[in-house]
Amino acid sequence: MSGSPVNSNILSFEDARRLVEMQAALVRESGDSATEAVELLAAAGRVLAEQVVADRDLPPFARSTRDGYAVRAADLSRLPATLDVIGEIRAGEILEKIPSNVDAGQAVSIMTGAPVPSGADAVVMVEYSSERGNQVEITRGVAVGENIVARGAEAREGALLFEPGTRLNAASVAVAASVGKVRLKVYKRPRVAVLTTGDEIVDVGVMPGPTQIRNSNSYSLATQIEKAGGEAVLLPIAPDELPPLRRLIEEGLKGDLLLMTGGVSMGRYDLVEQALAELQAEFFFTGAKIQPGRPVVFGKCGGDGREVYFFGLPGNPVSTMVTFELFARPVLEALAGQTPRKLQFLHARLKKEIRVKTGLKRFLPAMLTGEFENSEVELVSWQGSGDIAATARANCYLVIPDDRERIAAGEFVAVMKGDC
Ligand code: AMP
Ligand code: MG
Repeated sequence: MSGSPVNSNILSFEDARRLVEMQAALVRESGDSATEAVELLAAAGRVLAEQVVADRDLPPFARSTRDGYAVRAADLSRLPATLDVIGEIRAGEILEKIPSNVDAGQAVSIMTGAPVPSGADAVVMVEYSSERGNQVEITRGVAVGENIVARGAEAREGALLFEPGTRLNAASVAVAASVGKVRLKVYKRPRVAVLTTGDEIVDVGVMPGPTQIRNSNSYSLATQIEKAGGEAVLLPIAPDELPPLRRLIEEGLKGDLLLMTGGVSMGRYDLVEQALAELQAEFFFTGAKIQPGRPVVFGKCGGDGREVYFFGLPGNPVSTMVTFELFARPVLEALAGQTPRKLQFLHARLKKEIRVKTGLKRFLPAMLTGEFENSEVELVSWQGSGDIAATARANCYLVIPDDRERIAAGEFVAVMKGDC
């Protein structure tokens, strides 16, 4: 028997992606992901499951952003101006040592991060001053409010800083620290079953026979899964035979998401769709008009009394990586409790002309170089979607629209920063 018993449903990239995003949104709405508390230091990369609220005004006092002199701006309308220095305020200064008021004609020496005393309405930088005895001569004027961040200007006490669903990066961990969150409630990482299929595939530790190939897809996928917030669970390699394949798929459906690689093309022994059909799977699509990755399959299937999403990713190693980024990632992120994100692209000038056939949207391994407004990108030379070594030399995917036969050197093209 050739091909698969499943009705073919091949979508444009945009339709396939929309469908994935819709399912991801449904997952998020259901909101039944389990949570746990983690130490702040372990929270980076995790997804918040609680609101984070400012426990005090940020900053908690009017803060000087410079080393210099707290003054009344009006005193510097004529320059140079000579003011009486009535004290010094260090960062963290105790309240009792802060002058109660700064009057006209007075200045207070102040450090970055120190509270601005009342009466002063600006800070002039130390670079524009020279202190002589108890006086300071200032050679540059300031606007009211200059070099001061007002109390509560960054956030008011009680203000909502983060909603549940926020992926914590370095800045958001820092914000959580600044409002005293020693621990944070986060969503548990979804368990993602990885099932590699293929009679020719052997595990990394096994010496391959002359016609065998080492399993690399499970490892690229595990890396991508961990980065996207999941926990990869590697299943044994499935042969291209229905009964054991079906059994391993059932095993994989015990996880929160099942990713399979290989066995979704048109070959006689590409049996993944058939095995899924036998398990009463529902298929959202059975292909997308992209390269690499055209045979990608997305659906859901009952397992353990619940429905589990699955992706059948093509076995070619670059196809596996690209289709994970384009389609599996949003579903995984949603299962991880994260609010789904749009794909992010940047633009760069094409270094060398590209000629391709129309009809497929292409995501090809490429090298982005240059800096600031002079970014350039060029394809890395490769042997097709099995060439993982070429992808390892790349640092992005260059996106070629499906209706372009030729893109001239110098044109701006879209570039996707994937995990390549
Ligand atoms: P398939 O999608 O099963 O037709 O496989 C397409 C190509 O990818 C074949 O050349 C396979 O040998 C290769 N391949 C499939 N699975 C893996 C894997 N886990 N690691 C490395 N190569 C693979
Ligand atoms: Mg295969």
